[in-house]
Amino acid sequence: MQTIISKIDSNDIDKNELKKHSELLKNGETVIFPTETVYGLGANALDENAVKKIYEAKGRPSDNPLIVHIHNKDLIYDLSKDIDDKAKKVIDKFWPGPLTVILKKNDKVPKTTTGGLDTVAIRMPKNDIALELLRECNLPIAAPSANISGKPSPTNGKHVVDSMNGRVAGIIIGDDCDYGLESTVVDFTEEIPMILRPGSITKKDLENVIGKVEIDPSLLNHEDNKKAKAPGMKYKHYSPDAEVFIVSGKNDDVIEKINSLIDENDKNGLKSGVLCLEKNKKKYKGKVISLGENFKEVGRNLFNSLITMDNEKINVVYSEEFLDDEVGMAIMNRLLKSSGYKVIRV
Ligand code: AMP
Ligand code: MG
Repeated sequence: MQTIISKIDSNDIDKNELKKHSELLKNGETVIFPTETVYGLGANALDENAVKKIYEAKGRPSDNPLIVHIHNKDLIYDLSKDIDDKAKKVIDKFWPGPLTVILKKNDKVPKTTTGGLDTVAIRMPKNDIALELLRECNLPIAAPSANISGKPSPTNGKHVVDSMNGRVAGIIIGDDCDYGLESTVVDFTEEIPMILRPGSITKKDLENVIGKVEIDPSLLNHEDNKKAKAPGMKYKHYSPDAEVFIVSGKNDDVIEKINSLIDENDKNGLKSGVLCLEKNKKKYKGKVISLGENFKEVGRNLFNSLITMDNEKINVVYSEEFLDDEVGMAIMNRLLKSSGYKVIRV
């Protein structure tokens, strides 16, 4: 497939260039666009044939539902019903932003979009290009992360083009993604709202607005993610070609352990990589990528660093652990999945 690729400046959006892509969407085609979380692979959420093209382009299992993107908060009423007041409150507080709400779907939304479920995931992204595109085509756009299913999500234009050129009708390249981790997914169809996927908006952030929020127990019990309520969470995810290990322990012990593992890999002809905090960067051997000085930066850089490791043909990646009950929870959720839950404790 010939892909129309447009580089668009978010500070000075070229409306004519953008229109090419909104026309593709209106014609039932797929377009990749930037959001504040990761790049999304979009198509008309109300058109089953268009939505099928998303699943095909990604190689995504058809029971893994999609998030529908809208440009105006009131559009939730066009897609869902029986909306909980708590959902309205968090929407008012956090939209546009990296938060997805699960609501009961109405009849307009095809089950192809919702992976066969009676609920629909909706969010309003905080990205000027995305919002302008949504406004211009005036359609709800289903858009999962723009990666081949199972791989890390792309957070910059180069990684999108490398993996998706020829698989979609359009690609809009904008800025690198601000958050770099997918949205927090919260289910509002039960009495107490439940986080199904952790993200940059944390449990504490939500509880400050609506009181008690639960976390899908399978997220805390790492081995048990087959029972996850967000169907997507049960699949292999965020995995680069390299084998990933998380190394857990006191800072100095972790450094020593990783360096000794790298020595062994060297002997066996394996190329090693390390993902760490900036403060530790100079202490490691091998290909070292600093993810940043704080957890917000780690979140932003995690996926693109995993993809860089593959581009550099690294065989084994060791990552430090990034623990806290805020954004650290989202980072560790992604890292544990990339590693297939392989943790070396020292
Ligand atoms: P992605 O857009 O690829 O980052 O994935 C969207 C995530 O939202 C997946 O983990 C889905 O399983 C989850 N999701 C989407 N729609 C629903 C829904 N109706 N109920 C529960 N989880 C959902
Ligand atoms: Mg995804």
